[in-house]
Amino acid sequence: MHEVTIAGRTVPYRLVRNARSRHVRITFTPDGLRVSAPTRLSDREIRRAVQSKERWLLRHEALLHPQVPEPLIDGQMLPFLDGAVELGIRHSTRGSVRLRPDDARMAVAAPDADAVRPLVERGYRGAARDWFALMCDRHAHRMGVTYASIGIRDPRTRWGSCSARGALSFSWRLMMAPARVAEYVVVHEMAHLTHLDHSTAFWDLVQHFSPDFARDRFWLRDHGDWLSRAPGNTPPPPLD
Ligand SMILES: [Zn+2]
Repeated sequence: MHEVTIAGRTVPYRLVRNARSRHVRITFTPDGLRVSAPTRLSDREIRRAVQSKERWLLRHEALLHPQVPEPLIDGQMLPFLDGAVELGIRHSTRGSVRLRPDDARMAVAAPDADAVRPLVERGYRGAARDWFALMCDRHAHRMGVTYASIGIRDPRTRWGSCSARGALSFSWRLMMAPARVAEYVVVHEMAHLTHLDHSTAFWDLVQHFSPDFARDRFWLRDHGDWLSRAPGNTPPPPLD
């Protein structure tokens, strides 16, 4: 395996030499970075060529860290808003999930180990549908706005969105963030129902309905990477 340093971080890549290739080509594969280069170039020249693509590589940062999902195990605690739920796994040929936040339990019945994570995600998605419906109702009333629909998704780069037609969408992963952070995202998207931009007027509106929003934005900036991989073995950041 070859390595290159991008923004202070060591990134491994697989090097494939090709007599017919004329340029250094970088591609992302499920296993990570792949570099194909002409046979005539030295390792050093190739590394320099990869290095020169630093800006481009940084834009694909998420792809530089292919998600290696950590196994979820019976009895493990999963983050859930300001608390946690205990994951219970039992074997069953038919997969199912039941999330009961009041009992602090998520019960998964799975045919095999690989089926656990998608079922856990399904549990979070179900909870997110209920929670965001409640929160959107509450904040729409408070902010005097109306929305068309609520969708639960898993966008790679943002936690929520609002379309010009008033369709709101939220990442189910926010169910693993502190409630105030998830609520800030609701207020943020609802403010877009009035201002479809990030103008000063937009931020004034957010500030009015979510006075401590800066702290929540910082949380997402600092812990977004954790959130996009959770749940796993890394414990959630402490609540302040
Ligand atoms: Zn926005």
